[in-house]
Amino acid sequence: MTTIVRADTMLTPAGEVSPAELEIDDAGRISYAGTPRSGSIVTHDLTGHALMPGLVNGHTHGAMTLQRGISDDEGFMPWLAAVQEVEQGLTRDDIVVGLEVAMLEMIETGTTTFADMYHWDAGLLELVRDAGMRVLAAPAMSTADSVAFPGVSPLTGAEVLDETEALAARFAGDAQIKLAYGPHAPYTCPPELLQDIAARSKRSGIPIHIHVSESRAEVAQMTEQYGRTPAAHLDSLGFFEARVLAAHCVHLTDDEIEVFARTGTGASHNPVSNLKLGCGVARLPEMLDAGIALTIGTDSVASNNSLDLFEELKLATILHRGMRHDASVVSAAQVLDLATRQGAATVGFPETGSLEFGKLADVIALDLGRTSATPRGSLASHLTFSATGADVRHVFIGGQHVYADGEHLTLDAPAIRERAHAASARLRPQT
Ligand SMILES: [Zn+2]
Repeated sequence: MTTIVRADTMLTPAGEVSPAELEIDDAGRISYAGTPRSGSIVTHDLTGHALMPGLVNGHTHGAMTLQRGISDDEGFMPWLAAVQEVEQGLTRDDIVVGLEVAMLEMIETGTTTFADMYHWDAGLLELVRDAGMRVLAAPAMSTADSVAFPGVSPLTGAEVLDETEALAARFAGDAQIKLAYGPHAPYTCPPELLQDIAARSKRSGIPIHIHVSESRAEVAQMTEQYGRTPAAHLDSLGFFEARVLAAHCVHLTDDEIEVFARTGTGASHNPVSNLKLGCGVARLPEMLDAGIALTIGTDSVASNNSLDLFEELKLATILHRGMRHDASVVSAAQVLDLATRQGAATVGFPETGSLEFGKLADVIALDLGRTSATPRGSLASHLTFSATGADVRHVFIGGQHVYADGEHLTLDAPAIRERAHAASARLRPQT
């Protein structure tokens, strides 16, 4: 059965379409995106709403919602130590509820796909599928012989790589679930391990999700230890011959930007996290000019403290204008594209990310009745500069209605919030 959604306006690759009609076929694909046709039998009359593609979070650690507000005023390395201390006490149930809270927040604020690095197993991936979301899941590891999540999994880092391949085989062909290798960062993974992962990736076709050049401390450490900056070090190992999604990329040199562009390496821009931890400002205008495959991410709520990508949209647009004293360096439309069409392709879901014929129908509807939309500029202007995640009222993923007029249809929100409070009280009794 086809679904027909009507709204006041809609963001498409060809620009704003007003009024708007979207038809979704029974395979969850968009079979029409344009102005209303006579004779359509409307399934969802969303008068007073704007439609846009679901947002893509290009880098997060969803289950870390339980660590929201931890170490809020410390720099990167002390913050990381505080995070890892809490992780020593995590149970698998904590990770389940942390992930569920993350999915609630992402859906409520219009995110439909996320690229995640944390503990992942088949059961957690099933949770994402049942919630209706899409994920590029990278089971995290740092060294070959360390146990990344001691209370959760007995697997060593090397075994996590085998498990990543087993999960990728198990979920092969799944339109919602994709796997990536998840080495934490070049400064936590020895060179031989990074080379092994790159070789595995080239063999298996499974991409790699890794943090790169996040802090100046990382750059200094790598330069002292290996005589190269982080991305140059990875390049010297042949790492970028694999398909890589690199998070942060705050301190890339000109040469490293050129390496990313030449090798098709993806970069996730996470401006709130980078600012909150005092890490710096990534060179987004240069990365855009170089044609790097980009995406926008929140990072975890432990360094954000929100999964609302609308905050990142606004900041990613205005931050670089301020840094360059030039309002022309990044446009609202460019950043919207990074958070939707280009972001979806960068994290491995190219069949989503735009409202056009043939794409999977990942669609969100925002309330235009808000005072902040009264009056409004162009739709791109409104979505980038005025809208917030709280404006999102409906979410469809692959045509499935997962959030209807502010109510979750796939997740039991009150029960999840209650369990999250209980888990937090145990893990962080002092806060
Ligand atoms: Zn991260």
